[in-house]
Amino acid sequence: MSETHDRIVQETERIKALGETAPRLARDPVSQPIINAWLDAIEETDPRFTDGLAPPAMAQVWTMPGLRGTRGAEDPLSQAMEMLDSAGFTSVLGTNCDQTYERYLRVGEQVSVTTQLEDVAGPKQTGVGEGYFVSTRNVWRVGDEVVASMLFRVLKFKPRPRAPKSEGPDRSKIIRPVRNQDTDFFWEGTQLGELRVQKCNACGELRHPPGPVCPTCHAMDRGYVVASGRGTIFSFLVHHAPQMPGRELPVTIALVELEEFRQAQPPVRFVADVRGNPEDLAIGDPVVVDWDKVDDELTLPIWEVTR
Ligand code: ZN
Repeated sequence: MSETHDRIVQETERIKALGETAPRLARDPVSQPIINAWLDAIEETDPRFTDGLAPPAMAQVWTMPGLRGTRGAEDPLSQAMEMLDSAGFTSVLGTNCDQTYERYLRVGEQVSVTTQLEDVAGPKQTGVGEGYFVSTRNVWRVGDEVVASMLFRVLKFKPRPRAPKSEGPDRSKIIRPVRNQDTDFFWEGTQLGELRVQKCNACGELRHPPGPVCPTCHAMDRGYVVASGRGTIFSFLVHHAPQMPGRELPVTIALVELEEFRQAQPPVRFVADVRGNPEDLAIGDPVVVDWDKVDDELTLPIWEVTR
Protein backbone atom coordinates (compact mmCIF):
# COMPACT_ATOMS: atom_id res chain seq x y z
CA MET A 1 0.00 0.00 0.00
CA SER A 2 1.03 3.59 -0.59
CA GLU A 3 2.74 5.93 1.82
CA THR A 4 -0.45 8.01 2.03
CA HIS A 5 -2.45 4.97 3.04
CA ASP A 6 0.12 4.02 5.69
CA ARG A 7 -0.10 7.52 7.13
CA ILE A 8 -3.90 7.32 7.20
CA VAL A 9 -3.79 3.95 9.01
CA GLN A 10 -1.31 5.28 11.56
CA GLU A 11 -3.23 8.48 12.18
CA THR A 12 -6.51 6.51 12.44
CA GLU A 13 -4.98 4.32 15.16
CA ARG A 14 -3.81 7.41 17.02
CA ILE A 15 -7.27 9.05 16.92
CA LYS A 16 -9.00 5.78 17.86
CA ALA A 17 -6.68 5.39 20.83
CA LEU A 18 -7.90 8.75 22.16
CA GLY A 19 -11.17 6.95 22.91
CA GLU A 20 -14.31 8.78 23.90
CA THR A 21 -14.09 12.56 24.22
CA ALA A 22 -14.99 14.29 27.46
CA PRO A 23 -18.77 14.86 27.61
CA ARG A 24 -19.86 18.12 26.00
CA LEU A 25 -22.93 19.55 27.67
CA ALA A 26 -25.85 20.74 25.53
CA ARG A 27 -26.26 24.51 25.28
CA ASP A 28 -29.76 24.33 26.77
CA PRO A 29 -31.95 21.80 28.53
CA VAL A 30 -34.59 19.88 26.55
CA SER A 31 -37.37 22.42 26.02
CA GLN A 32 -40.95 22.39 24.80
CA PRO A 33 -40.57 25.34 22.37
CA ILE A 34 -37.79 23.55 20.46
CA ILE A 35 -39.83 20.32 20.46
CA ASN A 36 -42.86 22.23 19.13
CA ALA A 37 -40.84 23.81 16.32
CA TRP A 38 -39.51 20.37 15.35
CA LEU A 39 -43.02 18.83 15.43
CA ASP A 40 -44.27 21.63 13.18
CA ALA A 41 -41.42 21.09 10.75
CA ILE A 42 -42.09 17.37 10.32
CA GLU A 43 -45.88 17.64 10.76
CA GLU A 44 -45.94 15.28 13.73
CA THR A 45 -48.98 15.55 16.00
CA ASP A 46 -48.46 12.77 18.59
CA PRO A 47 -49.90 14.32 21.80
CA ARG A 48 -47.15 12.77 23.99
CA PHE A 49 -44.69 15.20 22.43
CA THR A 50 -46.74 18.28 23.21
CA ASP A 51 -46.77 17.30 26.87
CA GLY A 52 -43.18 17.08 28.03
CA LEU A 53 -41.68 14.10 26.17
CA ALA A 54 -39.13 14.69 23.43
CA PRO A 55 -39.25 12.69 20.17
CA PRO A 56 -36.28 10.29 20.35
CA ALA A 57 -35.09 11.28 16.86
CA MET A 58 -34.32 14.73 18.28
CA ALA A 59 -31.35 13.31 20.25
CA GLN A 60 -28.80 15.11 18.10
CA VAL A 61 -30.75 18.38 18.18
CA TRP A 62 -29.99 19.05 21.85
CA THR A 63 -26.22 19.01 21.48
CA MET A 64 -25.90 20.84 18.15
CA PRO A 65 -23.12 23.41 18.56
CA GLY A 66 -25.26 26.20 17.05
CA LEU A 67 -24.44 28.51 14.16
CA ARG A 68 -21.34 29.98 15.78
CA GLY A 69 -20.22 27.02 17.84
CA THR A 70 -17.46 24.62 16.82
CA ARG A 71 -16.76 21.03 17.72
CA GLY A 72 -13.24 21.86 18.89
CA ALA A 73 -9.86 20.64 17.66
CA GLU A 74 -9.91 17.53 19.88
CA ASP A 75 -13.10 16.22 18.24
CA PRO A 76 -12.26 12.84 16.63
CA LEU A 77 -14.51 13.43 13.62
CA SER A 78 -12.88 16.80 12.92
CA GLN A 79 -9.43 15.21 13.28
CA ALA A 80 -10.25 12.36 10.89
CA MET A 81 -11.74 14.78 8.36
CA GLU A 82 -8.68 17.01 8.54
CA MET A 83 -6.35 14.06 8.08
CA LEU A 84 -8.23 12.98 4.94
CA ASP A 85 -8.45 16.54 3.63
CA SER A 86 -4.69 16.90 3.82
CA ALA A 87 -4.26 13.55 2.00
CA GLY A 88 -6.41 14.89 -0.88
CA PHE A 89 -9.69 13.20 0.06
CA THR A 90 -11.48 16.51 0.21
CA SER A 91 -15.03 15.74 -0.87
CA VAL A 92 -18.06 14.44 0.95
CA LEU A 93 -20.95 12.83 -0.83
CA GLY A 94 -23.18 10.70 1.32
CA THR A 95 -23.57 10.21 5.01
CA ASN A 96 -25.67 7.76 6.88
CA CYS A 97 -26.44 7.21 10.51
CA ASP A 98 -27.98 4.57 12.74
CA GLN A 99 -29.47 5.82 15.98
CA THR A 100 -30.38 3.75 19.01
CA TYR A 101 -32.74 5.13 21.66
CA GLU A 102 -32.69 3.91 25.27
CA ARG A 103 -35.51 6.06 26.58
CA TYR A 104 -37.51 9.24 26.00
CA LEU A 105 -36.00 12.52 27.09
CA ARG A 106 -38.12 14.86 29.18
CA VAL A 107 -38.38 18.64 29.18
CA GLY A 108 -35.84 20.10 31.60
CA GLU A 109 -33.21 17.38 31.24
CA GLN A 110 -29.79 18.50 30.03
CA VAL A 111 -28.01 16.10 27.74
CA SER A 112 -24.29 15.70 27.12
CA VAL A 113 -22.61 14.04 24.16
CA THR A 114 -19.35 12.20 23.59
CA THR A 115 -17.71 11.23 20.30
CA GLN A 116 -15.34 8.46 19.43
CA LEU A 117 -13.70 7.40 16.18
CA GLU A 118 -14.77 3.85 15.35
CA ASP A 119 -12.92 3.34 12.11
CA VAL A 120 -11.54 4.75 8.88
CA ALA A 121 -11.95 2.10 6.20
CA GLY A 122 -10.45 2.16 2.73
CA PRO A 123 -9.27 2.97 0.22
CA LYS A 124 -12.47 2.01 -1.60
CA GLN A 125 -13.16 2.56 -5.26
CA THR A 126 -16.57 4.21 -5.49
CA GLY A 127 -18.60 5.66 -8.33
CA VAL A 128 -17.35 9.15 -7.52
CA GLY A 129 -13.70 8.30 -6.93
CA GLU A 130 -11.36 6.72 -4.41
CA GLY A 131 -12.33 7.31 -0.81
CA TYR A 132 -12.37 6.32 2.84
CA PHE A 133 -15.40 5.67 5.02
CA VAL A 134 -15.15 7.42 8.39
CA SER A 135 -17.31 6.01 11.19
CA THR A 136 -17.83 7.73 14.51
CA ARG A 137 -20.00 6.91 17.48
CA ASN A 138 -21.88 9.51 19.50
CA VAL A 139 -23.34 8.71 22.88
CA TRP A 140 -25.88 10.96 24.60
CA ARG A 141 -26.26 10.83 28.36
CA VAL A 142 -28.20 12.47 31.14
CA GLY A 143 -25.74 12.36 34.01
CA ASP A 144 -24.19 8.90 33.64
CA GLU A 145 -27.25 7.32 32.06
CA VAL A 146 -27.02 6.57 28.35
CA VAL A 147 -30.16 7.81 26.58
CA ALA A 148 -29.24 7.45 22.89
CA SER A 149 -26.33 6.63 20.59
CA MET A 150 -25.51 7.03 16.93
CA LEU A 151 -23.16 5.40 14.47
CA PHE A 152 -22.36 8.02 11.83
CA ARG A 153 -20.63 7.16 8.57
CA VAL A 154 -19.35 9.52 5.91
CA LEU A 155 -17.48 8.91 2.64
CA LYS A 156 -14.53 11.25 2.08
CA PHE A 157 -13.29 10.93 -1.46
CA LYS A 158 -10.80 12.36 -3.91
CA PRO A 159 -12.78 14.03 -6.69
CA ARG A 160 -11.91 12.81 -10.17
CA PRO A 161 -10.63 15.47 -12.53
CA ARG A 162 -13.49 16.73 -14.69
CA ALA A 163 -13.80 15.26 -18.15
CA PRO A 164 -13.05 17.79 -20.86
CA LYS A 165 -16.16 19.61 -22.03
CA SER A 166 -17.88 18.05 -25.00
CA GLU A 167 -19.45 20.21 -27.69
CA GLY A 168 -22.46 20.81 -25.45
CA PRO A 169 -25.49 18.99 -24.13
CA ASP A 170 -27.90 17.09 -26.37
CA ARG A 171 -30.84 19.51 -26.47
CA SER A 172 -33.23 16.87 -27.76
CA LYS A 173 -33.18 15.49 -24.18
CA ILE A 174 -34.57 18.67 -22.58
CA ILE A 175 -37.57 17.91 -20.35
CA ARG A 176 -40.63 19.09 -22.26
CA PRO A 177 -43.51 20.95 -20.65
CA VAL A 178 -46.76 19.05 -20.28
CA ARG A 179 -49.22 20.39 -22.85
CA ASN A 180 -52.98 20.11 -22.65
CA GLN A 181 -56.03 22.12 -23.71
CA ASP A 182 -55.44 24.58 -20.86
CA THR A 183 -51.83 25.34 -21.78
CA ASP A 184 -51.72 24.90 -25.56
CA PHE A 185 -52.43 28.60 -26.20
CA PHE A 186 -49.34 29.48 -24.13
CA TRP A 187 -46.96 27.22 -26.07
CA GLU A 188 -48.48 28.26 -29.40
CA GLY A 189 -47.70 31.82 -28.30
CA THR A 190 -44.05 31.14 -27.49
CA GLN A 191 -43.58 29.75 -31.01
CA LEU A 192 -44.91 33.04 -32.39
CA GLY A 193 -42.82 35.14 -30.01
CA GLU A 194 -45.78 36.09 -27.81
CA LEU A 195 -45.87 35.84 -24.03
CA ARG A 196 -49.53 35.06 -23.46
CA VAL A 197 -51.28 35.50 -20.12
CA GLN A 198 -54.54 33.74 -19.48
CA LYS A 199 -57.52 36.02 -18.88
CA CYS A 200 -60.96 35.24 -17.54
CA ASN A 201 -63.45 36.45 -20.15
CA ALA A 202 -66.17 36.76 -17.51
CA CYS A 203 -64.49 38.91 -14.84
CA GLY A 204 -61.30 39.98 -16.60
CA GLU A 205 -58.87 38.52 -14.06
CA LEU A 206 -55.41 37.59 -15.33
CA ARG A 207 -53.76 34.42 -14.12
CA HIS A 208 -50.66 32.30 -14.58
CA PRO A 209 -50.05 29.39 -14.71
CA PRO A 210 -53.13 28.76 -16.86
CA GLY A 211 -55.97 26.58 -15.67
CA PRO A 212 -59.48 25.57 -16.67
CA VAL A 213 -61.48 27.63 -14.15
CA CYS A 214 -61.26 31.22 -12.92
CA PRO A 215 -60.33 31.00 -9.21
CA THR A 216 -62.30 34.21 -8.52
CA CYS A 217 -65.62 33.90 -10.40
CA HIS A 218 -65.38 30.18 -11.35
CA ALA A 219 -66.17 30.89 -15.00
CA MET A 220 -64.66 28.55 -17.58
CA ASP A 221 -64.78 31.08 -20.42
CA ARG A 222 -61.12 31.92 -20.92
CA GLY A 223 -58.99 33.92 -23.31
CA TYR A 224 -55.61 35.61 -23.12
CA VAL A 225 -53.74 38.85 -23.50
CA VAL A 226 -50.22 39.27 -24.90
CA ALA A 227 -47.77 40.73 -22.41
CA SER A 228 -45.02 43.17 -23.39
CA GLY A 229 -42.54 40.64 -21.98
CA ARG A 230 -40.96 43.29 -19.77
CA GLY A 231 -40.70 42.84 -16.04
CA THR A 232 -38.43 42.72 -13.02
CA ILE A 233 -36.83 39.84 -11.17
CA PHE A 234 -38.92 39.04 -8.12
CA SER A 235 -36.75 36.10 -7.03
CA PHE A 236 -34.24 33.70 -8.55
CA LEU A 237 -32.15 30.61 -7.85
CA VAL A 238 -29.08 29.03 -9.38
CA HIS A 239 -29.39 25.32 -10.03
CA HIS A 240 -26.04 23.49 -9.76
CA ALA A 241 -27.16 19.89 -9.21
CA PRO A 242 -28.48 17.35 -9.98
CA GLN A 243 -27.74 17.16 -13.69
CA MET A 244 -30.70 18.06 -15.93
CA PRO A 245 -31.13 16.24 -19.25
CA GLY A 246 -30.10 18.34 -22.23
CA ARG A 247 -28.94 21.27 -20.08
CA GLU A 248 -25.61 22.77 -19.23
CA LEU A 249 -25.33 23.65 -15.53
CA PRO A 250 -25.56 25.92 -13.67
CA VAL A 251 -28.96 27.15 -14.82
CA THR A 252 -30.40 30.36 -13.40
CA ILE A 253 -34.17 30.29 -12.96
CA ALA A 254 -36.09 33.47 -12.15
CA LEU A 255 -39.55 34.39 -11.06
CA VAL A 256 -40.40 37.57 -12.97
CA GLU A 257 -43.12 40.07 -12.20
CA LEU A 258 -44.51 41.41 -15.45
CA GLU A 259 -44.63 45.21 -15.56
CA GLU A 260 -48.18 45.67 -16.79
CA PHE A 261 -49.63 43.17 -14.31
CA ARG A 262 -47.83 44.28 -11.19
CA GLN A 263 -51.05 45.79 -9.84
CA ALA A 264 -53.04 42.60 -10.50
CA GLN A 265 -54.11 40.63 -7.42
CA PRO A 266 -52.44 38.18 -7.23
CA PRO A 267 -49.67 39.73 -9.35
CA VAL A 268 -48.86 37.81 -12.54
CA ARG A 269 -45.44 36.19 -12.29
CA PHE A 270 -43.60 33.92 -14.70
CA VAL A 271 -40.87 31.35 -14.13
CA ALA A 272 -38.19 30.88 -16.78
CA ASP A 273 -34.42 30.61 -17.20
CA VAL A 274 -32.23 33.71 -17.29
CA ARG A 275 -29.33 34.23 -19.69
CA GLY A 276 -25.92 35.27 -18.47
CA ASN A 277 -23.82 35.06 -15.36
CA PRO A 278 -25.82 34.55 -12.13
CA GLU A 279 -23.10 36.44 -10.22
CA ASP A 280 -24.26 39.65 -11.92
CA LEU A 281 -27.93 39.10 -11.16
CA ALA A 282 -29.96 40.86 -8.46
CA ILE A 283 -33.57 40.94 -7.35
CA GLY A 284 -35.28 43.91 -9.00
CA ASP A 285 -33.22 43.72 -12.21
CA PRO A 286 -35.21 44.64 -15.32
CA VAL A 287 -35.63 41.84 -17.83
CA VAL A 288 -37.29 41.25 -21.16
CA VAL A 289 -38.46 37.93 -22.52
CA ASP A 290 -36.57 36.32 -25.37
CA TRP A 291 -37.09 32.99 -27.08
CA ASP A 292 -35.08 29.81 -26.89
CA LYS A 293 -36.08 27.64 -29.82
CA VAL A 294 -35.44 24.01 -28.82
CA ASP A 295 -36.91 22.48 -32.00
CA ASP A 296 -39.86 22.95 -34.36
CA GLU A 297 -42.39 21.99 -31.68
CA LEU A 298 -40.97 23.76 -28.64
CA THR A 299 -39.85 27.29 -27.92
CA LEU A 300 -39.11 28.20 -24.30
CA PRO A 301 -39.25 31.71 -22.90
CA ILE A 302 -35.93 32.92 -21.47
CA TRP A 303 -35.22 36.18 -19.64
CA GLU A 304 -32.63 38.62 -20.86
CA VAL A 305 -31.38 41.25 -18.39
CA THR A 306 -31.71 44.74 -19.87
CA ARG A 307 -29.80 46.71 -17.25
ZN1 ZN B 1 -63.33 35.26 -13.57
